[in-house]
Amino acid sequence: MSFARLPLPELTLPGAATTISRLNTSEQSLLTGIAQAREWVAAARRVAVLTGAGISAESGVPTFRGAGGLWRHYRPEELATQQAFMRDPKLVWEWYDWRRQRIALARPNPGHYALAALERRLAEGFTLVTQNVDGLHERAGNQRIWRLHGDIWLVRCTGCGREERNFEAPLLELPPRCRDCGALLRPGVVWFGEPLPADALEAGFTAARAAEVCLVLGTSSVVYPAALIPRCALEAGARIIEINLDPTDLSAAAHLSLRGRTGELLPPIVQGAA
Ligand SMILES: [Zn+2]
Repeated sequence: MSFARLPLPELTLPGAATTISRLNTSEQSLLTGIAQAREWVAAARRVAVLTGAGISAESGVPTFRGAGGLWRHYRPEELATQQAFMRDPKLVWEWYDWRRQRIALARPNPGHYALAALERRLAEGFTLVTQNVDGLHERAGNQRIWRLHGDIWLVRCTGCGREERNFEAPLLELPPRCRDCGALLRPGVVWFGEPLPADALEAGFTAARAAEVCLVLGTSSVVYPAALIPRCALEAGARIIEINLDPTDLSAAAHLSLRGRTGELLPPIVQGAA
């Protein structure tokens, strides 16, 4: 599924009589793109942000797919399911325990810190929706975070439903059990076949509809329904700024699509907004 090549309306810069037409990096240098993005972000009071695996990968978090990321030759689709957990909870927990240990070694990168600075400036005008479960946004200082795929540091009891944050890495007991009722705990992440949390999705769409700028960072924009959030922002009139190493299905529709690392491109964009 790809984004429709939506015709974009002429844009009027706030406080200026100038109208500009759509930019892309094939026509503009990266520096020009950064300067334009900085201007838009500086003028915005409401910014919606969608982040994906790319920003975490810059911090050394494996994507757990393909070369170097696979654990014991399992694909994520074979382990991140209710069925796999029912069949072999210890195996599934060993995978999560390994991932948690890898993530515990990672540190937020300048892209994460730039988003934390942007939240400090915009307060409730800022909404961050992430597909990442690693907690790096939180560690960088962001608080207004909606986690579409859950939180690898959250554990939930399959018996009584109790939830708690658990930062043991490695875990002391595999598979871990609820100290209240003794039932198995499961990771607080969204597995294949499970619905995304409705509150996070709703927050994302609400923020997208209200945003003047939507930042789409390190995500391939092909996983639905998350990929609908920038599209919703686009249709509501926001300027879409994409930062990704490779072109995505969103790139042609974005007002600015910058090729590169979030940790390198986002700080100069946000610094101008501080
Ligand atoms: Zn319990």
